Amino acid sequence: MPIFPIRTFGDPVLRTVAAPIDDFSSELERLVDVMLETMYEAPGVGLAAPQIGISKAIFVADIGDGPFVMANPTIAELDGSWTFDEGCLSVPGRFWPIKRPGYAKATGFGLDGHAVELEGDELMGRVLQHEIDHLNGMLLIERLGRRTRKQALRELRDEALGLTADL
Ligand code: ZN
Repeated sequence: MPIFPIRTFGDPVLRTVAAPIDDFSSELERLVDVMLETMYEAPGVGLAAPQIGISKAIFVADIGDGPFVMANPTIAELDGSWTFDEGCLSVPGRFWPIKRPGYAKATGFGLDGHAVELEGDELMGRVLQHEIDHLNGMLLIERLGRRTRKQALRELRDEALGLTADL
């Protein structure tokens, strides 16, 4: 299986709302295999399909106890608050302390097309929120406070334009 290049900040696919999965076929299984392989190779704990340029509502993740996948996920419940140094494979090398609800529950579909629920605190809750944001065309930068966000966007744009150098 080829490892797909991971799309990074500035790629319009990352700002696009992903299309729902309506075909739970072996083709979807192959997509999930490629996504998992790409995620482990990166390495990362989560990967949404738009991050490899495929604007479909599915993500994979593994927070240390085995891979899981969810298609057409939506947040069903959020609770509490937790600050975590959050990063993203599409914004490589950057981490920001981001405060979000600590607990999240998501409902969606498994690879076989049956309804499933995923939930958890801390890292699990964070992964669910982060990956579902991706499927809604949102990057973690949009979860930063106003001042930090402006600074981050300026730096990332300068980098994209080649206006900075690590000397
Ligand atoms: Zn991400």
